[in-house]
Amino acid sequence: MRIGQGIDAHAFKEGGTLVLGGVIIPYPRSLEAHSDGDVVLHALCDALLGAAGLGDIGRHFPPGDPAWLDIDSRILLRRTIAMVVEEGCKLVNADITVVAQEPLLGPFIGAMREFIGADLQVSADRINIKATTTERLGFTGRGEGIAALAVVLVED
Ligand code: MG
Repeated sequence: MRIGQGIDAHAFKEGGTLVLGGVIIPYPRSLEAHSDGDVVLHALCDALLGAAGLGDIGRHFPPGDPAWLDIDSRILLRRTIAMVVEEGCKLVNADITVVAQEPLLGPFIGAMREFIGADLQVSADRINIKATTTERLGFTGRGEGIAALAVVLVED
């Protein structure tokens, strides 16, 4: 068994499309990023790469590279799991926490689990996603951005 963890955070900007866990969330703001800013999938990619001993997302998908401009992060996730499988690792489960004061994410978590399970080729019940606020403390609590943390277990 091998374990990996990942964290990501992005700041809000006005307008644009907010995408979390591959799901479009109706909200007047989106996340500032070179890619689509999907913090959930970025934290998950980092956890997967960590478990497989493959470094981090910045090494494989450099933010300055025009190839990744506005890219759908599900593409990055599928490429990541392909590298992890290539290393001989198989995902056991993932546990993800999204830290956001708003929007309310509960209604979208089921769809996120389905999308992530499909991309990682595991049943959605192996992908747990939780959402929490920070009781208005810190940058997430002030509504300046969203953070996500992910832990994965793989077997090799
Ligand atoms: Mg990111």
